[in-house]
Amino acid sequence: MIRQLIARMRGPLRLEADRGYDNRAVLGGLERYVAAWVEQLTPLVSDAETLKRIGRMAGAFAAYEQATVARRRKLVEAAGELLAAIDKATRARPPGPPNWEAPLTALKGIGPARAETFAAAGIHTIGQLLSFYPLRYLDRPRLHDPDELREGAEAFLRVRITGPGTNFYRGRVKMTTVPAVALGPTDRAEKLPVKLRWFGQTYRATQFEPGTELVVAVRPRRYRDTTYLVVSECERAADDPDEPGLGIGRLVPVYSAIDRVSASALRKLIRQALDACEEIPELLVPALLAAEHGLMPLREAITQTHFPDNHESYRAARRRLNYQELLLLQLELALRRAEADADRPGPGLELPPKAPETYLRVLPFSPTRAQRRVLAEVTADLQGAGCAHRLIHGDVGSGKTVIAGWALWAATCAGRQAALMAPTELLAEQHHRTLTALLGPLGTAPLLLTGSMPEADKRQLRQQLGSAQPAIVVGTHALFQEGVEFSDLAVVVIDEQHRFGLQQRAALARKGTRPDVFVMSATPIPRTLALTLYGDYDISVIDELPPGRRPVLTRVIAHSARDEALALVASELRESRQAYVVCPLIEEGDNSDWEAAVAVHESLRQELARHGAGDARLGLVHGRMPADTRDAAMEQYRAGQLDVLVSTTVVEVGVDVPNATAMVVLNAERFGLAQLHQLRGRVARSADQAHCILVTGSQNDEVLQRLTVLESTADGFVIAEEDLRRRGPGELAGLAQHGLPDVHMAALMADTTTLVAAREDARGLLAADPGL
Ligand code: ADP
Ligand code: MG
Repeated sequence: MIRQLIARMRGPLRLEADRGYDNRAVLGGLERYVAAWVEQLTPLVSDAETLKRIGRMAGAFAAYEQATVARRRKLVEAAGELLAAIDKATRARPPGPPNWEAPLTALKGIGPARAETFAAAGIHTIGQLLSFYPLRYLDRPRLHDPDELREGAEAFLRVRITGPGTNFYRGRVKMTTVPAVALGPTDRAEKLPVKLRWFGQTYRATQFEPGTELVVAVRPRRYRDTTYLVVSECERAADDPDEPGLGIGRLVPVYSAIDRVSASALRKLIRQALDACEEIPELLVPALLAAEHGLMPLREAITQTHFPDNHESYRAARRRLNYQELLLLQLELALRRAEADADRPGPGLELPPKAPETYLRVLPFSPTRAQRRVLAEVTADLQGAGCAHRLIHGDVGSGKTVIAGWALWAATCAGRQAALMAPTELLAEQHHRTLTALLGPLGTAPLLLTGSMPEADKRQLRQQLGSAQPAIVVGTHALFQEGVEFSDLAVVVIDEQHRFGLQQRAALARKGTRPDVFVMSATPIPRTLALTLYGDYDISVIDELPPGRRPVLTRVIAHSARDEALALVASELRESRQAYVVCPLIEEGDNSDWEAAVAVHESLRQELARHGAGDARLGLVHGRMPADTRDAAMEQYRAGQLDVLVSTTVVEVGVDVPNATAMVVLNAERFGLAQLHQLRGRVARSADQAHCILVTGSQNDEVLQRLTVLESTADGFVIAEEDLRRRGPGELAGLAQHGLPDVHMAALMADTTTLVAAREDARGLLAADPGL
């Protein structure tokens, strides 16, 4: 049926090619035609990957009418290939013995009805069943000796059935009792006569021949000289006493629930599938690579994931499976990037030989070793052909601006154009100011473009960028709207600060030319996550702060001791310093955090007065203010016209105020560690000792312990990993969902070595065989 459908669909595609892609091969146009066949094909396809491909195809064809001939040709060819692949897959699926591709019904005990329950959970084939990994394991390491039985305490025993069972009612409950004898766990000596007891399972009475050995999970009850064992799980014992059961006497896999399939039935089915499945295809991962990293063969890894021999072996199994998953992910990212490169390879910048030295000489300080290293990496990117994608990761204050300045200036040095994109107008203005100071001595004046500029100025700027003159322009996303066309854009620097997703970056890359792209990020995220989110990026880390910089002295105090925090603020103000007071996010309702900020702002003056700082000039910023009012307050604060800025987390994307040396965060427990770390970075802008006080009303030990991590470390990566460990990946999921829908959280938790290996292998594979 599916094959006939495919044969029918191929005709018009061939015709369209013969006609030179004039969109006349079928009445109503190819877009309608493809939409119709997608509708017929989709219900016949069960493979998720193929469904996704079909979906993408349908999306791409929607714009067929508007597409150029070259694009149409690509689309038609791609559609042909997809059909061929589906055709091949259906041919390849043999009926007969259960294998990886076979439908679940090839297993004993799965009929059409059961198959449907599994299908609802996305499991259609034996391969998919084997890829349904356990969520966790129960540690049931060994069988007990009958001597160890204790009233009511769960035990795991080997028993031998000694006779037929009986059914009876107690009240309205059906009960079954089967006589047996409990055995020694290894010697199988008969030790204790018992009665096995089940509730509501009358078939148990006749299920077992006398002499059958079982392993059971039970709770013992003594009643009138008889030991009753209430059975919660049972299975037939293997002949070999060393062989553990599936659910007893071992690490037992626990799966997410599937409707109407019991845990033990699921385990048995998976065991059956493992034994029956003769061929487990080594998906893409050449066995060679796996061996090179000392990874388990796939079959063993799958077996050990479901039924691990011990803790060690399931960890090794997970490593193998994670590697595979990550390799596929990295391959996809690398392919995506290669496609982008192939479309329009940018030529390398032609830099005057002394350019880096010239740049370094005008800096008002000598760069740190980390800055030098990253500068060299960026220079290599700039001079290389193709378009670079590099993430420049460094804590707040590590000096990323110097690197950005170099990349931008280098472009103009080579006679080309460069742009820096910031998340807000305020930050764009700040960058513009900093870069003007930095590049002024080199005779370069960066331009500024923001949405709120007068139209006439914008027009002039657009003209300038449209001509091929070298230029540096700083702006917000308005840079890539507002009808700005760069005639010769060679470098784009994005100051990420939480705000841009992968999508925006992709949009930017689609913009005409293909510039080198550098993303600056201070977001403390675990390294594994960075490598995944930025899988198609190279990564540079500025892992060193400028000399003399001291970590922010951080203290966690109880709400009742909040006065100490105010005393600190007052004493900093006396030294003509400035301070931030950050207010909590309130949980109930999205809008009330600003109310809290307003309330704190109102009461703060009196509280400061008690510490002799009643004349402090207070400012307030929160998300409910109009943007220009907020920016005006921040600007006043920056200019030193305000002493204390009370804010919600809007300062997080923050302005650069070196004179601010104190920060108080109220209800700190409501923030993630990484977020607090980024917040306190706001007061680490100079060589003077800065203070951060985290005020919490929580009495919870766990919470307090979490917060004190910030007292002891200043390393953003460490803090982020601590966050991940304590709060789970859920807290970071927002980040992950940024751009990569298919990232498995398990893979994100993988160790960095596996990840780096997968990434390098992906690149190696692609270099050896660009089309795969
Ligand atoms: P980031 O953008 O990484 O948060 P910045 O580039 O804004 O950090 O730098 C923070 C501060 O440190 C700036 O005031 C900058 O002038 C200064 N700075 C940067 N690099 C050095 C250095 N090598 N030595 C001394 N000060 C530096
Ligand atoms: Mg910065």
